[in-house]
Amino acid sequence: TISGEHGDGLARTAFIRSQYGDLYRVFRQVKDIFDPHNLLNPGKIINDDQHITIRNLRPVPEKFPELVDLQLAWSPQELQDEAARCNGCGSCRRQDAGSRMCPVFRIAPDEEASPRAKANLFRSLLSGALHPNELSSAETKHMADTCFNCKQCQLDCPSTVNIPQMAIEAKAAYVSANGLDHTDWILSRAHSFGALGSTLSMAANWAINNSSARWLMEKMMGIHRDRKLPFFSRRSFLRSGPKKYLKRPRPGSDPNLVIFFVDYYANYHDPELAHAMLAVLQHNQIPVYVPPQQLASGMAMVSAGDLIAARGLAEENIKILAEFAKEGHQIICTEPAAAVCLKQEYPMLVPGEDSRVISEQVSEAGAFLWQLHESQRLKTDFGRLDLELDYHTPCHIKALSSRSALNALLALIPELRVNTIEKGCSGMAGTYGLARDTFETSRQIGRELIDHMKITNVQAGVTECSSCKMQMEQESRIPTIHPLKLLALSYGLMPELGRALQPQKKKLVVS
Ligand code: SF4
Ligand code: SF4
Repeated sequence: TISGEHGDGLARTAFIRSQYGDLYRVFRQVKDIFDPHNLLNPGKIINDDQHITIRNLRPVPEKFPELVDLQLAWSPQELQDEAARCNGCGSCRRQDAGSRMCPVFRIAPDEEASPRAKANLFRSLLSGALHPNELSSAETKHMADTCFNCKQCQLDCPSTVNIPQMAIEAKAAYVSANGLDHTDWILSRAHSFGALGSTLSMAANWAINNSSARWLMEKMMGIHRDRKLPFFSRRSFLRSGPKKYLKRPRPGSDPNLVIFFVDYYANYHDPELAHAMLAVLQHNQIPVYVPPQQLASGMAMVSAGDLIAARGLAEENIKILAEFAKEGHQIICTEPAAAVCLKQEYPMLVPGEDSRVISEQVSEAGAFLWQLHESQRLKTDFGRLDLELDYHTPCHIKALSSRSALNALLALIPELRVNTIEKGCSGMAGTYGLARDTFETSRQIGRELIDHMKITNVQAGVTECSSCKMQMEQESRIPTIHPLKLLALSYGLMPELGRALQPQKKKLVVS
């Protein structure tokens, strides 16, 4: 046909008749014989509509209807442009193993769970096809809740459409009009309960591993009773960390200074990870400051659409970090979600020069150490670790970089054998896997990874993300460890980290 060996589609169908003249009649007869009910590719090649080429073009709104206030830092025009970049190709509906998008759609393949449905929602709203009130409706929330902000569609979509940001905007509209659901409210404020959990760690840790208390927690807080949880540390890292790192340096005192952003999990549940970060930096003679007033990143609030609360946290952290970022100091994060939050979410929550500079200066810990390694400034006096481990790449590490720098650095440790496993998204997605209502879905999404960790013969799992770690340990008899701890252990800086390779025997607790 007119397209040579390519298909004609709706774009060229109108010209086929002119190309073939009388023969077109024969085309129609063949179609009628083999496809009498017009089921096969209807409308293509055989079509009487002379305007079919332009019939389905999307209208471009000249004037935007009055919308619920957009809560992220984009104008209706920018949102419209972003939505328009989705060409409807449907790649985000794929189910093959070559891509991670979309973990939710893969187990519930309804159109509304697809990433492109979020772009279609905003296109319909901005063109006036949907009433603005629909943005804060329960139906829209249901659709937006099928996104847990893993960022994989943005990476894999051929047009790199920022679907997760649209889902956040839709959730925010619902929250602003209807308030936050009880469980979302509690889970997105885990950092607020962290201080209490640490202060009352004996009671809190007893409750975490007690079936009756967990039943009550499920009823009252919406945390699924079977989800393995981490113990609270007796003292949070920011309250008990080494004083010399918590003391504010004089501005401009050392150009090599880095700022350590600790975030919730390392602060309240895993201070050893923060100590490992400091030990590795100190071993490599990198001066570090840990601002003691820093707060959690607020990623859980962003993902829940509670943008007013998330903005409050972001503003406080920006106040603390901006002056260091402006002096050119790097801000390093051991938690991938925190790095994504500071880099990608803060500029949309609190637009301006400060959040922009912070975004530029934030590095995930592995990326920072890899820079040192590339400039031959990372010490390589690693001791042997005769271990075999399975490494899982968190979605938020993929969102930051094309590969895990920490996994690459593990290759420097003599005798350590690390298998990189690709079993898709873990399904934990921050608080998604904790909640009573999404616990089972989370396990379904992470099923391949969970099953792998159940039968693997290695000594431990490895991953940077605290949520992925929880999922990897959910049904496994072996622990999962942060790669930074392996670096600190191999350097001989923290021999006590050998304990982190011991399995956690308690039924409802992760290591
Ligand atoms: S979101 Fe991307 S992958 Fe999905 S339909 Fe749109 S352009 Fe295609
Ligand atoms: S961010 Fe993740 S969960 Fe959300 S639509 Fe994209 S792939 Fe799906």
